[in-house]
Amino acid sequence: MADDLNLPKGDLMKGKKGLIMGVANHNSIAWGIASQLAAQGAELAFSYIEAMERRVKPLGESIGVKVFVPAEVTDDASMDQAFATLEKEFGTLDFVVHAIAFSDKNELRGSFVENTTRDNFLMSMNISAYSFVDVARRAEKLMPNGGSMITLTYLGSERVIPNYNVMGVAKAALEAATRYIARDLGPKKIRVNAISAGAIRTLSLAGIQDGRKMIAQGRQFSALKEDTSVEGVAGCALWLLSDLGRSTTGEVIHVDAGFHMIGLPDEAAE
Ligand code: NAD
Repeated sequence: MADDLNLPKGDLMKGKKGLIMGVANHNSIAWGIASQLAAQGAELAFSYIEAMERRVKPLGESIGVKVFVPAEVTDDASMDQAFATLEKEFGTLDFVVHAIAFSDKNELRGSFVENTTRDNFLMSMNISAYSFVDVARRAEKLMPNGGSMITLTYLGSERVIPNYNVMGVAKAALEAATRYIARDLGPKKIRVNAISAGAIRTLSLAGIQDGRKMIAQGRQFSALKEDTSVEGVAGCALWLLSDLGRSTTGEVIHVDAGFHMIGLPDEAAE
């Protein structure tokens, strides 16, 4: 539960209401972010897919969440219903956390060019990239006083990471979408950013072949020589979603213990 995490308490999010999309269980990155935002006084709503309801509700309730909305991002009727419920319960929104991705795990292995089917390419793009555009358009209508939105991405968008394959292409689209949404919503004082997190042990990572190796390699080759912590990602989210982040938009921020900027690991030079 949230007690497992070392999260600073305070009032940075007091008076702010937001939607958290993507809690599946207590390992989810969205759960770490939600716990940090709650510890800083935010009022939260959780969206979830039906299959996860049994796990998500008790987690949310343990940090005071009262609004739960089913939301399947590929289904317009489900999204219409989710945002109608949010409007009824909250009236307006101050922030959104989008932590959603999916691809067929049979295609997150081996050769990208050989293994990528049209159907899974389109599904991965739909769930992992287009959904942020759709959510942003809907959430903007509930943000008359401005706001902040974040999404979660990974280095596989910028560089080739073995087995990440079509998800890397979807993350590249997600990061570009972040910039275009930030441009469109900027005049409405809505900030839009992406956090590029290092590998963290979650359900999603388990779907990638050798996902565990990604964690070990992150530890070995990162500048800090340590795992990316959920607390570190949640801290960045708190900065971006609170007024502390007021001048930052359209940005992709790496929170990966300095893995992304190493060109050649020391081991390769020995
Ligand atoms: P997770 O499996 O806990 O979360 C993924 C969430 O996506 C789940 O809650 C799932 O229910 C939701 N989801 C999938 N398909 C959906 C759909 N059709 N409609 C609505 N929701 C759907 O894993 P996570 O690692 O916490 O992933 C959260 C985000 O962080 C993802 O975008 C992921 O790509 C990103 N990310 C993860 C890592 C990592 O190493 N774990 C690193 C960088 C970025």
